[in-house]
Amino acid sequence: MATKRDYYEILGVDKKASPDDIKSAYRKLAMQYHPDRNKAPDAEEKFKEISEAYAVLSDQNKRQQYDQFGHAGIDMRYSQEDIFRGVDFEDILRDFGAGGFGFGRGGGGGGIFDIFFGGERRREGPRRGSDILYELAVNFEDAAFGKTIDLEIPRTEKCDVCNGSGAKPGTSSRTCPTCRGTGQVSRTQNTPFGRFMTTSTCGTCRGNGQIIDSPCTNCHGSGTVQRRRKLEVKIPAGVDTGSRLRVAGEGEAGEKGGPPGDLYVQIYVKPHTIFTRHENDIIMEKNISFTQAALGDEIIVPTLDGKAKMKIPPGTQNGEIFRLRGKGFPSLHISGKGDELVRIKVEVPTKLNDRQKQLLREFAEASGEKVKSRGFFG
Ligand SMILES: [Zn+2]
Ligand SMILES: [Zn+2]
Repeated sequence: MATKRDYYEILGVDKKASPDDIKSAYRKLAMQYHPDRNKAPDAEEKFKEISEAYAVLSDQNKRQQYDQFGHAGIDMRYSQEDIFRGVDFEDILRDFGAGGFGFGRGGGGGGIFDIFFGGERRREGPRRGSDILYELAVNFEDAAFGKTIDLEIPRTEKCDVCNGSGAKPGTSSRTCPTCRGTGQVSRTQNTPFGRFMTTSTCGTCRGNGQIIDSPCTNCHGSGTVQRRRKLEVKIPAGVDTGSRLRVAGEGEAGEKGGPPGDLYVQIYVKPHTIFTRHENDIIMEKNISFTQAALGDEIIVPTLDGKAKMKIPPGTQNGEIFRLRGKGFPSLHISGKGDELVRIKVEVPTKLNDRQKQLLREFAEASGEKVKSRGFFG
């Protein structure tokens, strides 16, 4: 582990700095490193470092601990969350102006917690359910025309017997006597540095803050049940592999009355036997005979919605590409459709009968060619 830098050094202030000096030093650095403003890869780490330094030095007790015992005095006594708890970042960063930085209201800066702890909030209060990512393979044609697909998503849902409370209907939960509902317990510890209080998750209620004496028999007290949820999802025309559809509110159930998460359906488009896709165009290869190529013809080609006639002009070359307008994929975002591109492959016959050979020799003579390979052709 890298050695932690001195908090005073981080903020660039003197050990005797006044609370106001510390505040203004922090504000200046926060302006510079806030991840909403500074997109450098290490800005977030830096911002956390200065915020931690400020959280400690702006709190009289924590600063005293730090002055006396250094980082050990803080790290042994406070969890990372505890270090930040109670610091009014919102107040100090208010002057940053409108647009804000998403600092949560009250509760000591929920936004700061989001930044530093990956959105993990304290246990109390409602929590939004997790998002679900579901991978869905769709046929090439369904991707082109869109389709409503029935999905079965395994997910947690609010138990409807206890309405999510976890307590048997007619009973209720009670506040945990061990932690008095906070979900956390403090413990005093004697160490060579002095007496320390450490905070940990309450074992009686496992951090819930509530105790259920008569658990709901349907969900065994969890308040949620596992279900396979049937859902209709409309796949819009034009999706491609990697397209992601968001179905709001169809993710995992929230906790303690929090809203559910969202469902994301990630699309994989199965390959087609004839067509390949390039952006919104589809491409196919079509074999024609060399007489069709030379004389021209009208041929039938497959499209995504049936067959279509296509004219081959006389003198068509191998590798030439013809375009069937509007026979490709619709665009997801703008109106209009891609095209179908038909790449011509002219086949040279491999077996000729005597009459065909004779005719081709005559053809060659008429073209002024000298066919030397008479013997080769037999
Ligand atoms: Zn408890
Ligand atoms: Zn239940």
